[in-house]
This record gives sequence, structure tokens and C-alpha cells, in this order.
Amino acid sequence: MTIDATGLTKQYPHALAVDELTLHVAPGEIYALPGLNGAGKTTTIRMLLGLLRPTGGQVSLLGSRIAPGRNAVWARVGYLVETPSAYPELTVTENLQVVARLRGLRDGSTVTGVIDRLGLGPHARHRAGTLSLGNKQRLGLAKALLHRPDLLVLDEPANGLDPAGVAEVRDLLHELARTHGVTILLSSHILTEVARLAGRIGVLDRGRLVWEGGATDLTARSRPRLCLAVRDHERAAAALRAAGHLAEQDGTGGLVLTAEQAIRHPDEIATLLVTADCPPTRLAVEQDDLETCFLRLVAPR
Ligand code: ATP
Repeated sequence: MTIDATGLTKQYPHALAVDELTLHVAPGEIYALPGLNGAGKTTTIRMLLGLLRPTGGQVSLLGSRIAPGRNAVWARVGYLVETPSAYPELTVTENLQVVARLRGLRDGSTVTGVIDRLGLGPHARHRAGTLSLGNKQRLGLAKALLHRPDLLVLDEPANGLDPAGVAEVRDLLHELARTHGVTILLSSHILTEVARLAGRIGVLDRGRLVWEGGATDLTARSRPRLCLAVRDHERAAAALRAAGHLAEQDGTGGLVLTAEQAIRHPDEIATLLVTADCPPTRLAVEQDDLETCFLRLVAPR
């Protein structure tokens, strides 16, 4: 496993930020941690990176146990945590050259390569302090990628990017994982983005991992249903019942059928109701979207 965290816990005096979190991420996998504000994403990421000391549990990255004074593994890890900092008076190129020197990278093409990759070419000579939020984020990603890490840990990588930028970063991360086998762990508030990007998702709620699975598994949990609106409930329900269909009240004045036969053949239900002299005023097959499925997993605030 590239990331192995067991029983990871962070107890602050007045808040249990992360509670016995166990997380395993395989090589080349893109794993996302969506969660509401305060769910514990940043705390988890900081502990994984050794930036914050856990009060319990342990972490191994790329087979090395994370502990004070052990540095070898960091040469293989790239990360972006919250708003990335840069030297504001230095240009984009100079900022990357500083990081390249610190990382002991001598090949000058490394900096130009990463500038191209992140679409920072037009801003290469601009001072970092003058960049837009999205381009600051691009610079942060460029710094994280400079040394071609095997593991990338990104806290809110889409932060500040416009829709085109979000799509570019998504393509870049997919390519890194697919072509170069890079393992990626990221946190994000944007559920649709998480679903497009990640192979696996772990939902954090109040410091606990409450669900883990594929993006499609998240919506697959919600079964489709046939929703009906009729003027005469009693009559419609009786007609449906007589034909062997069980209709439930949806709580907002409509009727809901969940049997597969009804969902596959809503036309039959419509005909049945018309024949019973209570035609539907609305008839639709519905399924919860990603956001609804996600919110169902996390406890109400
Ligand atoms: P967001 O999406 O808002 O960034 P998050 O999921 O990253 O949220 P964390 O920042 O990890 O959440 O915070 C988790 C919990 O731990 C919150 O209740 C927060 O108030 C608490 N917390 C975080 N840092 C500290 C700290 N230094 N001292 C005390 N409590 C903290």
C-alpha cells in the first residue's frame, strides 16, 4: 500500500478532529476525501504528511513509517496543503527554481517542463504575488510535481480554479495516475469533481470515515423510484393496489412506487390511472443525485 494509516486520531483539548481513522490507498490509485467543513480532512492530510503530530495511531507512506527525523520518504512525496505559499517578489520561474534547488534537482528543463504542464507559460515571468488565486494554485501544484513524486497529497486542489482550470487539473491528475502510476490522495468540497476524478472515495464526517467505495457506488445506493402526482390520492392508490402495485405516500402529497416493474414501465401505470379516471398530473422516474446521497451519509448538523 502507498498510504497505510491505522487508528489515526487527533484529539484537541476541546475537539476530536480525527477519530481512529484507518485508510489504505494502493499504488496508482486516486482516492478522494470529500467532507463538510470541519469534517477533519485537513487534519487528516496534515497528519499523513507528518506536519501535525497525531495523538493516536500510525502512518506509513510508500512503506516508510512516518516519524520525526525520518526524511528519506519526502523525496518521493509531493503535497499541496491549503493556500500554497510562494515568494511574492520572485517570478513563477524563480519560485520553481528555488524549490528545484532545495530538492537538489539540477536539470534546468525540469522547471520549464512543469511550467508547460500546468499551463503557467504566460505567467512564467510574472511575480508570484501578482498571480490570480487560480494561478497561485497552479504554482502550488507545479511545486508539488517538480520532483516527479510517486505520491501526491492535495488539500483542495481545485481551490480558486475556474471550470477550465478544474478540467485541466483533472486531466493532469488522471494522466499522472494512469501513465506514471502516481498515487493521489486529495480532499475536495466539489462532489461532482470528486466523482469524476477519484477511483475510490472515503467520506469523512466528524473525524470518522463513515463510508468508503467507488463514486458510482455512492449513487447506486439510491434506487430509482416512480413519482406520481394525482388529484385523488385515495382513488389512485386503490386502483394501483387492485392492479398489484404498492404505492407509498412521499410526504409531500405525491405517491411513490419502487417496484422494478413500475419503474421500467411507467406508461403502464399511466394507462392504469387514466382508465381508473384519475390521470396523473405528474409522472417521473427519479433517483437521488450525488449530493443527496452524500448528505444522507453524513449526520445532520
Ligand atoms: P474544512 O473543509 O472547513 O477545511 P476540514 O474537514 O478540513 O474542514 P479540519 O480543519 O480538519 O476540517 O477540522 C476538523 C475539526 O478539528 C474541526 O472541528 C476544527 O474546529 C477542529 N480543529 C482543527 N484544528 C484545530 C486546532 N488547532 N485546535 C482545535 N481544534 C481544531
